[in-house]
Amino acid sequence: MTDVEIPSEQWAQVVERSGGPVVYKKIPVRKPGPDEVLINVKYSGVCHTDLHAMKGDWPLATKLPLVGGHEGAGVVVARGELVRDVEVGEHAGIKWLNGSCLACAFCMQADEPLCPHALLSGYTVDGSFQQYAVAKAAHVAHIPPECALDAVAPVLCAGITVYKGLKESGARAGQHVAVVGAGGGLGSMAVQYARAMGLRVIGIDGGEDKGKSCKSLGAEAYVDFKISADVVADVKAATDDGLGPHAALMTAMSDKPFQQATGYIRSRGTIVCIGMPTGAELRAPVFDTVVRMVTIKGSYVGNRQDTQEALDFFRRGLVTVPYETVGLSELQNVYQLMEERKIVGRYVVDTSK
Ligand SMILES: [Zn+2]
Ligand SMILES: [Zn+2]
Repeated sequence: MTDVEIPSEQWAQVVERSGGPVVYKKIPVRKPGPDEVLINVKYSGVCHTDLHAMKGDWPLATKLPLVGGHEGAGVVVARGELVRDVEVGEHAGIKWLNGSCLACAFCMQADEPLCPHALLSGYTVDGSFQQYAVAKAAHVAHIPPECALDAVAPVLCAGITVYKGLKESGARAGQHVAVVGAGGGLGSMAVQYARAMGLRVIGIDGGEDKGKSCKSLGAEAYVDFKISADVVADVKAATDDGLGPHAALMTAMSDKPFQQATGYIRSRGTIVCIGMPTGAELRAPVFDTVVRMVTIKGSYVGNRQDTQEALDFFRRGLVTVPYETVGLSELQNVYQLMEERKIVGRYVVDTSK
């Protein structure tokens, strides 16, 4: 099957009970099934979802014991006998959607994230916080060889998610899009993707620093909700004709920014939610939604084609992600910083330390 030497044991971070913490220990290396590949994960981004999975915050139970992680970038070291389109030695990525049935009504129309039989990396199957991870060959991300594996890792969840959200907004080149939470991890990537897609970005966030970073990444305008007396009026005023942005992307959705979006979105415009703060709910005036023909929707990760497109923007140098690298052994410290909300940018773990 392969010439690469694969050890029988490896280092991993394991959630042994719901609530955590993670335990850094040696576990066996799995063999890939007929339709699977084994990836020697070099780097993995750490996403807020990984923290939620460890703590058991969500209504859907995780597998236990669990190896988390779904932004894994590495090298294919083995493949099952049915795999034809992924080569040993190729750079590949493990993303949230580890596999899907490829036969249901959703998979048939390339909505595989909605597959009722979807396998989720670092949630229902072991993910990328280990040195050797298994994924369905049909779903691995094909990482171009010129992309550095540490820098590309965050694209595999955060990048795909914001890019897909922008596609789902239906906004076209030349139109205005508001990015809410534009100074955060998802938001700063969204600003860059939007700009690269030819959209005109209005960043919305709190604080002068975030304004500076949004503008340096390509936002045309910035509305600081901490000092704005009327966010709705200011966002509308940032569009050429004063009628408001064609789309709004909610990366950090809580109730108030959402209600503001329903006020400033242009008639016929679309509000897309991608962030998922615990317990947040949508409330919009039905009258306005009807007479202004406003669309409100959710967008959830991306399909295989979205994945390759999102990676291609990165390959072309149009999107960069600020990140800091630490050893896999330090994962619990990263979770601690996340809990204390002390993280700016993204953490990437190096599985060799
Ligand atoms: Zn994620
Ligand atoms: Zn399916």
